[in-house]
Amino acid sequence: LVRLRDRLARSGSPLGARLLSVLSRDHLTEDDWDELEETLLLADIGAGPAGELMESLRTRVRVLGVRDADSVRQLLREELLKIVDPTLDREVATHGPLADDGTRLPAVVLVVGVNGTGKTTTVGKLARVLVAEDRSVVLGAADTFRAAAADQLQTWGARVGVETVRSDRDGADPASVAFDAVKKGRVDGTDVVLVDTAGRLQNKAGLMDELGKITRVVTREAPLSEVLLVLDATTGQNGLNQARVFGEVAGVTGIVLTKLDGTAKGGIVVAVQRELGVPVKLVGLGEGPDDLAPFDAEQFVDGLLG
Ligand code: GDP
Repeated sequence: LVRLRDRLARSGSPLGARLLSVLSRDHLTEDDWDELEETLLLADIGAGPAGELMESLRTRVRVLGVRDADSVRQLLREELLKIVDPTLDREVATHGPLADDGTRLPAVVLVVGVNGTGKTTTVGKLARVLVAEDRSVVLGAADTFRAAAADQLQTWGARVGVETVRSDRDGADPASVAFDAVKKGRVDGTDVVLVDTAGRLQNKAGLMDELGKITRVVTREAPLSEVLLVLDATTGQNGLNQARVFGEVAGVTGIVLTKLDGTAKGGIVVAVQRELGVPVKLVGLGEGPDDLAPFDAEQFVDGLLG
């Protein structure tokens, strides 16, 4: 987490610099307040949350009679933390339930999101973390739309030393690959099955059918422990629209915010959590196998404030 903070700091948060410049003024003028709101908007916090945040901030500043920038900054930090909420449970569920016969079922983690957001990479990184914790893992390549996707997942599997269940046929039924992976996990007594899915958003009905079918078929073997939605932090408010769609079709239980290394616009976290009420659980900080970290609300807000 220290590493996370350092790296966020090194990403040279222009937001932090801008906030700092506004908040270092002796008294905040009307223009300064506007600039503050604009800065929050630039960070992709979203118009709704930014407006509400400014309103409660201004009320508190007035009621408390504070004038100095340090106090305003502290209040802004508190308001941001109210939304990002450090008390949320952000643990990724990787312990499956007990079956009727007393054996433990694998934890099934479905990873969903629009193509290109970093699903496959996240599955690889997560597998790596689990393996390092001596947990057994199997990967399911349920993105059967492109053969290259299964190859990419398999490469990650080989890299971290876990098996990948895939189909050799292009366009095979994703649900049947997911089923095979979970079945293998159950038969082998594997701790965690990570299922990578395709995310073609062009067709919401198709996506809904596909994810719905995967869920139905997989749960014949073991219930889903977690549905992680992968969002690319650099896509800004667009990520919020994606979150809405996937929230409707897939019963998302946690968010993975990727590519936070490439942007200071992580404010999408605030927008997504507020709207979906689903906690951000992990952040992606690069393309390498170790570039995954748990999300820490306080450090995130401090990073945002610079
Ligand atoms: P998918 O289509 O959703 O499975 O996305 P991929 O896992 O193939 O990732 C798409 C691209 O984003 C690849 O080039 C990844 O290396 C890159 N990527 C994924 N996560 C991160 C991250 O946290 N930071 C950066 N900088 N790149 C990432």
